[in-house]
Amino acid sequence: MSDSSSKLLVPLHVKYIQSLGESKDDLMYHLTAHLRMNAIYWGLTALTIMGHKDALDREEMIDFVMSCWDDEAGAFGAHPDHDAHLHATLSAIQILIIQDALDRVDVDRVVKFILSLQQPSGVFAGDQWGEVDTRFLYCAVNALSLLGRLHELDADKTVGYIRQCRNFDGGFGAVAGAESHAAMVTVCTATLAILDRLDEIDQATLGWWLAERQLPNGGLNGRPEKLEDVCYSYWVLSAMAILKKVPWIDAEKLIAFILSAQDPEHGGIADRPGDQPDVFHTHFGVAGLSLLGYRGLEDLDPVYCMPAKIIERMGLRKDWEALPRRVE
Ligand code: ZN
Repeated sequence: MSDSSSKLLVPLHVKYIQSLGESKDDLMYHLTAHLRMNAIYWGLTALTIMGHKDALDREEMIDFVMSCWDDEAGAFGAHPDHDAHLHATLSAIQILIIQDALDRVDVDRVVKFILSLQQPSGVFAGDQWGEVDTRFLYCAVNALSLLGRLHELDADKTVGYIRQCRNFDGGFGAVAGAESHAAMVTVCTATLAILDRLDEIDQATLGWWLAERQLPNGGLNGRPEKLEDVCYSYWVLSAMAILKKVPWIDAEKLIAFILSAQDPEHGGIADRPGDQPDVFHTHFGVAGLSLLGYRGLEDLDPVYCMPAKIIERMGLRKDWEALPRRVE
């Protein structure tokens, strides 16, 4: 197979991720300040899965993360001088764990911040301003687990809210009563996996709903009647991996779809073929390939969205099926 889109262009993607922080005069660089901490986590995780963790400077990265500490709140913002937020805080913890630098953090204060955001209904707000969503609930449970402080969570109240978000199709929405969406299905499934409560899921019905997300071109969508998008390769597959149902989709066709969304000139992966790449889709494309057992990639843990060997070392790895490595 000589076509460049028939295999993962690792050296180009490494270069693409390295180039992201370079042009600080770039308008996009400023527009994406509210996602900067997440972007670093996406870039670092993709690099680690591709076997190039050291492509970004470790000290510089740790300094940036620590410069986003909001000392008033006791957690991390997305950018220096931004208010602390749950999503940025989870990304900061994940980055520091991958870089083996968690000792820089006042864990007690972070735990206090996280727990303060749980609402009486059991869901979590993203920050003190109060927007609630099952994604923030996952950020909270994931972070508490990574910090070894899950026992401080009111697990029954948390699971109770997820139960309220469960729909007739087996899926979950962003809030109670909202329609099922692949991203919310994954965050709820992963949360229940962390809490050892997968019995809350109608696994056959949900597995079927997830498998139905694959379109004739091989790509996956997030809801019925929507377009395929590379990021759903992760959102759908991680839930399927947790439920041990990955073989229900056509892996060869999905691999071909993800690879076709690569930029063969400048590197990076887009939401779909021909679009502009970004670090979010690059990360989730590589993550999807890893969950499919793509040859040469390190395993990704589908619950924590972190390199599996780190989760294993922390004693948090469950027995998710590992697919046999396939030929590139
Ligand atoms: Zn997307």
